[in-house]
Amino acid sequence: MDIAPSYGLFIDGEFREAAAGKVFKTLAPATEEVLSEVAQADADDVDAAVRAARAAFGPWSALPGAERAKYLFRIARIVQERSRELAVLETLDNGKPIRETRDADLPLVAAHFFYYAGWADKLAHAALGRSPVTGASEEAPRPLGVAAQVIPWNFPLMMLAWKIAPALATGNTVVLKPAETTPLSALFFADICRQAGLPRGVVNIVTGDGSTGAALVGHPGVDKVAFTGSTAVGKEIARTVAGTDKRLTLELGGKGANIVFEDAPLDQAVEGIVNGIFFNQGQVCCAGSRLLVQESVHEEVLDALKRRLATLRVGDPLDKNTDVGAINSAEQLARITELADAGEREGAARWSPACELPGEGYWFAPTLFTGVTQAHRIAREEIFGPVLSVLTFRTPDEAVAKANNTPYGLSAGIWTEKGSRILKMANQLRAGVVWANTFNKFDPASPFGGYKESGFGREGGRHGLEAYLDV
Ligand code: NAD
Repeated sequence: MDIAPSYGLFIDGEFREAAAGKVFKTLAPATEEVLSEVAQADADDVDAAVRAARAAFGPWSALPGAERAKYLFRIARIVQERSRELAVLETLDNGKPIRETRDADLPLVAAHFFYYAGWADKLAHAALGRSPVTGASEEAPRPLGVAAQVIPWNFPLMMLAWKIAPALATGNTVVLKPAETTPLSALFFADICRQAGLPRGVVNIVTGDGSTGAALVGHPGVDKVAFTGSTAVGKEIARTVAGTDKRLTLELGGKGANIVFEDAPLDQAVEGIVNGIFFNQGQVCCAGSRLLVQESVHEEVLDALKRRLATLRVGDPLDKNTDVGAINSAEQLARITELADAGEREGAARWSPACELPGEGYWFAPTLFTGVTQAHRIAREEIFGPVLSVLTFRTPDEAVAKANNTPYGLSAGIWTEKGSRILKMANQLRAGVVWANTFNKFDPASPFGGYKESGFGREGGRHGLEAYLDV
């Protein structure tokens, strides 16, 4: 059954079949039903898309910022108008609960386009530096050219917005490759670009697997590569780009720590812990996948957490009451299962609330591991699933040392009533984003990105613009 229409590649303002005529299927992870057949782009298709983006770059970058802003505002408004359709499509293709798609993903996608639309006409003037004597801008920001953007499946539309909005605002043109398990919302977005009257070639979407991404990243006509995905693929891309004059930003994996002190408002903290790891089934790069809880409140927090987990509703992602949806693919489910099994083998204690999982589709029950030590794989490796590893600490210094003890450095959360402690620890934590008494809060004005193996470069805010500019 085809639930969504079949789309081709979006190149030079038109949908077209892949040159070699190849297609692949995209499934609904909650049911394993085939949703649609999508074109599989090869190197020839990628070349056509890059050429279209190159041809569009001159006129697009020459437009006054205020004109580019109009297109971005229009896109933002159409996203809002069509957000119900988009939310359903995203939930079908990804498996995430419709409540999250509707209340988190879609509003953030629109907000991102609104935010960067607001920058487009100010770049030349709201200068990042001005002469103290003449008041004149001493900086002349210039777009880079054609941006190759490769994104993952966990927030398909939101990752697209994070990539496309700043690139267009700054006068770049784009070839974007969505993940192979979630291509549909990007193709729907291509239709929105047409509806907004965006000049042809400014946004191109090529669907396909890793080979399509590799062809895009390696194309000599690309000036900038922006990648979000796994650390392993990010390193491969860094090797491809090394030795070329392409600019590169990498947003990679994470192993975030949610740190709870005994003086924290514990009810609120429990909500934050649940949101931190079960939002989007834990398939979140900045998930709070490690809970570091102060020893004195360990039992209390665990009891409250278990009671709360027992109330989570796991199941049909299209049901508005669902809290935890499906895992995105069989491959991802296998990865989560393997790591959770390793946790048990290595001696940690596993617990899940009683819950009935649907018979079809890819499902993993919310899971807690206690008795975790830093040597365990589940304390160090990114699981990217609804699995929380619980560790304890006694002092703030111990908490910082444990939080920083992974190869990653993307996110952390601190729960305490002491403001001075928050400020001190935020500086000590090697994490690109630190939340205090909250978790997973996003805002287009806030830069987001990592340290260490979580990548480099920032998306969001003014820093997100700088990644697409020469000055
Ligand atoms: P992945 O690296 O397997 O795939 C990401 C994208 O890269 C897909 O579109 C894929 O087709 C493409 N790709 C695969 N091989 C490629 C190659 N050799 N060259 C070019 N492109 C290639 O990652 P995934 O499993 O889709 O996503 C999960 C990962 O993404 C997790 O590690 C997660 O932490 C990370 N992530 C990071 C952020 C962030 O902002 N830091 C956000 C979301 C996800």
